[in-house]
Amino acid sequence: MDKIKVAILGSTGSIGTQTLDVIEKHSELFEVELLTANNSAELLIEQAIKFQPNNVVICNHDKYKEVSEALFNQPIKVFSGINSVCDLVKGDNVDIVVAAMVGFSGLKPTLAALNAGKNIALANKETLVAAGSIVKEAALKNNCAILPVDSEHSAIFQAIQGERSNIEKILLTASGGPFLNSSIEEIRNASLKEALNHPRWKMGAKVTIDSASMMNKGLEMIEAKWLFDISPDKIEIVVHPESIIHSMVQFEDGSVMAQLSNPDMRLPIQYALSYPYRLPLNTKRLDFSKIGALHFQSPDFQKFPALRIAYESIKKGGNIPCAMNSANEVAVQALRDGKIAFWQIPLLIERCLEKCHFIQNPTLDDIYSTDFEAKKISQELVKNLYKW
Ligand code: MG
Repeated sequence: MDKIKVAILGSTGSIGTQTLDVIEKHSELFEVELLTANNSAELLIEQAIKFQPNNVVICNHDKYKEVSEALFNQPIKVFSGINSVCDLVKGDNVDIVVAAMVGFSGLKPTLAALNAGKNIALANKETLVAAGSIVKEAALKNNCAILPVDSEHSAIFQAIQGERSNIEKILLTASGGPFLNSSIEEIRNASLKEALNHPRWKMGAKVTIDSASMMNKGLEMIEAKWLFDISPDKIEIVVHPESIIHSMVQFEDGSVMAQLSNPDMRLPIQYALSYPYRLPLNTKRLDFSKIGALHFQSPDFQKFPALRIAYESIKKGGNIPCAMNSANEVAVQALRDGKIAFWQIPLLIERCLEKCHFIQNPTLDDIYSTDFEAKKISQELVKNLYKW
């Protein structure tokens, strides 16, 4: 049997490196066709030498020389720039594309892959938040599967396997992040370092900060709406600090199906790659007698305004979720650059949304211009912080 040829967009990030780990453990089934990275030239070179893909792309043109020189005696073609990523994902040699880039920039290559008929293992939730209807339409038109890599969405996907019945409700679980038990006052004083200290998951900086503000759960709620074609008022966020249940689905007869495991992203990554089959995975197994109890509570919309903003944005619809996501990307970067405080993230997003143009049925061009507009407005807001 031919091996499944995998393209990994964002191979040097947290999801990318764990995807390579899965591929290495099942090298009898998978091989790497394409690796891409934004800036991490050194790790990309190391991965390319080890996994021998046909092509690699370093998006940052300034690092092209470093990568091409390091790989000059390898049978690997080296390219630079996002347009090369969009070209190479279409290649005949690509069977599945792992979309593991961070943020809105993942949209273009994901759409290129879908329009070339490729199945997507989607970790880049921002793509669905920004352009859900367009991405879904492209998948439908080209007969492509979008397989969730996000652990919650993988859990939901696993829970509905074999079901022919309607979903009554999705119970989207959230760890609650590092500020679950903090007061509003403490959140007001929270530092970048505290925001980066997630209690359960070790992830990239963007998603870790999003988890602390709970914007991550807001983005995931919108991601779930598109992936499972369900109205947001049927998606309930449930705080579950142990992160053992990765989400649940409630059916019309009151049955609730859950997927449980110790937190390990290799599980949802591997399931997306091997679906509809399961493969062995060497994770730490659950020991229920040691776990003893699992806890659940409602999220606090007062303490975490990002949740309210996300529900309001998807309710308004059109280009607003895209603008919300773009404003959040600027806010998170501004926090990392020391330009705003953690608690100002949702405030900045709301101020930005007040100023953005509303488009009810955005085209793809409208989505790109909304991203541009929202980022520009947000950057102005960061610069004029004292006027807020
Ligand atoms: Mg998640």
